[in-house]
Amino acid sequence: MTQTLTTHNLGFPRIGADRELKKALEAYWRGDITQNDLEATGRELRLRHWQLQADAGLDLIPTGDFAWYDQVLTLSATLGNIPLRHRKSHILVNSDHPIHEGCCAAHSTSHAQATIEACADIDLDTLFRVARGRAPSGAASSASDMTKWFDTNYHYLVPEFHPNQEFKLSWTQIIDETAEAIAKGYSVKPVILGPLSYLWLGKEKSENFDRFDLLENLLPAYKQLLQALADTGAEWVQIDEPILVLDLPAKWQQAFERVYHTIKHPQIKILVASYFGALGENLSTAINLPVAGLHIDAVRAPEQVLTLVDRLAAHKILSVGIVDGRNIWRNDLQKSLNLLHTAHTRLGDRLWIAPSCSLLHSPVDLNRELKLDADIKSWLAFAKQKVHEVTTLKKLLINPSDITAQQELTLSNNAVLARSLSPKIHNQTVQARLEAVQPEDAQRQSIFAQRIQQQQAILKLPLFPTTTIGSFPQTDFIRQTRKEFKQGDINAQEYEQKIRSEIAACIVRQEKIGLDVLVHGEAERNDMVEYFSEQLNGYAFTQYGWVQSYGSRCVKPPIIYGDVSRQGPITVEWARYAQSLSNKPVKGMLTGPITMLFWSFVRDDQPRATTALQIALALRDEVIDLEKAGIKVIQIDEPAIREGLPLRNKDRAEYLDWAVFAFRISASGVKNETQIHTHMCYSEFNDIIKAIADLDADVITIETSRSDGELLQAFESFNYPNDIGPGVYDIHSPNIPDVQNMVNLLKRATRKIPVERLWVNPDCGLKTRRWPETEAALVRMVEAAKILRDQV
Ligand code: GLN
Ligand code: ZN
Repeated sequence: MTQTLTTHNLGFPRIGADRELKKALEAYWRGDITQNDLEATGRELRLRHWQLQADAGLDLIPTGDFAWYDQVLTLSATLGNIPLRHRKSHILVNSDHPIHEGCCAAHSTSHAQATIEACADIDLDTLFRVARGRAPSGAASSASDMTKWFDTNYHYLVPEFHPNQEFKLSWTQIIDETAEAIAKGYSVKPVILGPLSYLWLGKEKSENFDRFDLLENLLPAYKQLLQALADTGAEWVQIDEPILVLDLPAKWQQAFERVYHTIKHPQIKILVASYFGALGENLSTAINLPVAGLHIDAVRAPEQVLTLVDRLAAHKILSVGIVDGRNIWRNDLQKSLNLLHTAHTRLGDRLWIAPSCSLLHSPVDLNRELKLDADIKSWLAFAKQKVHEVTTLKKLLINPSDITAQQELTLSNNAVLARSLSPKIHNQTVQARLEAVQPEDAQRQSIFAQRIQQQQAILKLPLFPTTTIGSFPQTDFIRQTRKEFKQGDINAQEYEQKIRSEIAACIVRQEKIGLDVLVHGEAERNDMVEYFSEQLNGYAFTQYGWVQSYGSRCVKPPIIYGDVSRQGPITVEWARYAQSLSNKPVKGMLTGPITMLFWSFVRDDQPRATTALQIALALRDEVIDLEKAGIKVIQIDEPAIREGLPLRNKDRAEYLDWAVFAFRISASGVKNETQIHTHMCYSEFNDIIKAIADLDADVITIETSRSDGELLQAFESFNYPNDIGPGVYDIHSPNIPDVQNMVNLLKRATRKIPVERLWVNPDCGLKTRRWPETEAALVRMVEAAKILRDQV
């Protein structure tokens, strides 16, 4: 008897193979196209992606995965949870004005200042105002916060919650798109984020209340949504509860069963989806939910499959996420089959197969890559290919003699074998060097207290030394120069000449401003990761491998496919030149091993720790070369160290161990006299402060200005032992900072941190700013430092 099974997908990248959505969004924001034009592009992309998945033979195609900016924001609108300040037409009235019954219920909180009377006031521009603070229509007001989606590089709009808030169905995009797909004849399964994950991912906007208390208020809106989806004719609805892979407080865990009892709908079969890890101690909760099926991530946690096969009730389906939605490697079909076989024998048509998570995190189509090395290309799969892998696995399971599926299996086997043996991957020298690494290699010669004295004897810096984070404005001239060089319009000498002139001008400006530790300005860098990757062995680059980071922004991560080593010095000549122009120290500027790792697609054939160490050794050579070239201060940026933190507490110590070790390997090859800086931004430091101290950088510069110094607390209460530069102004804004504000922020810092250990610097690099505001801001920053010096 041949058993069938169901294939489905959790989400397809919406941005388009040519970033069509990005381009249309930006054109619309600029006023170059109309809202109708933008909507047409969206419709075209949805249709194209549905058709592509149907052509691949997928049984259920996702809807609700399209978003104009972000799927969490779409859901906020759906549930009527749009902040007052962003609504289309808010007529401000006195707080004692009665609130319209059943209308704008989401805001029936007793706002002290004002409340809202208009309703039905969400439109497309409303979404853009929430996301960007402004849209072609409506008044500007501050955007909602954006933060990273679990451990990915995708950012979602953080829902805002108020006490006693109510929710109701207010935006029908998901319903309309589902109806549209069904009308076109596609078998679809709408995808929405579940109520517990939605609440968890948001934040309270007033004090003394817990957003968890809004749960009961939230459920009626979900019921309305499920009813509306049932009315479209959808049979299955996928409800994502990715928080099932986190360490959850008991009340959150216990709420699951109640929530799903409350929202269940007689016409709808609910598939609860977990991804990005193992269910762990939430497994029983997940298994016992009163729903029709459960999706698990079998890439990150393959060991879950058999447990669930054993334990799942006989009327439920199990969806096994077997194709990696987070990386670009081709699926090892044979290995997948081995895992799926038992599940299929036991579950029959109750087995579903899918990618591990939404393909939002994959680039769109490998076939478009015409410049990739043919071997490397044969090891990869992007979203379109991944959907195909899912349907091929189905064929191989239910009809093993299918000729085309067999051919696919052979191709997969060949690729797996070729990749594992390829000389392009394996470099004996790198491996031998890794073997020889000793714990002492991660130790500076002496402890900080001694090093800092030796450094100070050479650097002779004043109290409150001033510096910047590395990049200076990327002018049109710089972009043009890099482009001309890339296209071959100018030769290497001309290019070098132009960049040198830029560096020289940058040094002159910094001396004039009166900064103490200078930088060369990073004019030669397109991107802090790509620039270094291009000069390392083991990295490959795509032409179209874009992945959405937030809204219209996409990143094109390089691919680490093989053992990493340095081709030769990377930054040394630029640094030497910059230093030759000034008597003040000029910082060498590098991207650290953890950031190089996390902002790339990383090998899946060896532990990430091994890859990190390879990168660290390459950087170590660069650090030593910089020292030899006379560079006295070297900064190793690690903005990504926090985002690599595993989702589960139990996995964190191990990660931090190897991450810290890799950083220290890159930094510890130099003499005491050489001062190592590091820089981190957008980080919450509390849970990693010990690891940050363990990096043992002589100086750390961090972001603090936007939180009024709040981020510094972690450093203060930990008694952070080394030098620290709390960013004194926000580089994201073109506003010129106020001298007194900067003085105050630093004064506050001196209450806990000894003055000898404080530095003065902006929050982050200045590459997105323009020169006039940059100079004005830095002049004031230097002034603030002088005021402080006079006061101590
Ligand atoms: N040195 C980099 C710069 O100044 C650091 C960027 C970052 O932290 N993201 O641009
Ligand atoms: Zn930064």
